[in-house]
Amino acid sequence: MTAEDRARRRVPIRTCVGCRSRAEKSALLRVVVEGSGPDMGLVPDPDGKRPGRGAYIHPSTGCLDAAERRRAFTRSFRRGGPLDVTLVRRWLEAVERA
Ligand SMILES: [Zn+2]
Repeated sequence: MTAEDRARRRVPIRTCVGCRSRAEKSALLRVVVEGSGPDMGLVPDPDGKRPGRGAYIHPSTGCLDAAERRRAFTRSFRRGGPLDVTLVRRWLEAVERA
């Protein structure tokens, strides 16, 4: 697919919450918040099917680290406190090992 094709098809673009660079939505991992109270945490949503507000990140632990340092998830999901990223980190580590 050429750049011209992409422009014509209006491929959705999202910004990675880690490195803040823009990429095609299909190249990023969607993450959503699940649970409530102390069980609240981020879960990976590779199929993009889970309901609710999503944030997008490159499938890379480097971008996850950057997002955590910048408290990007807390801002993105408008939560007061930190969000548990354990499940997302495990998912990314599995992808990077593959
Ligand atoms: Zn990134």
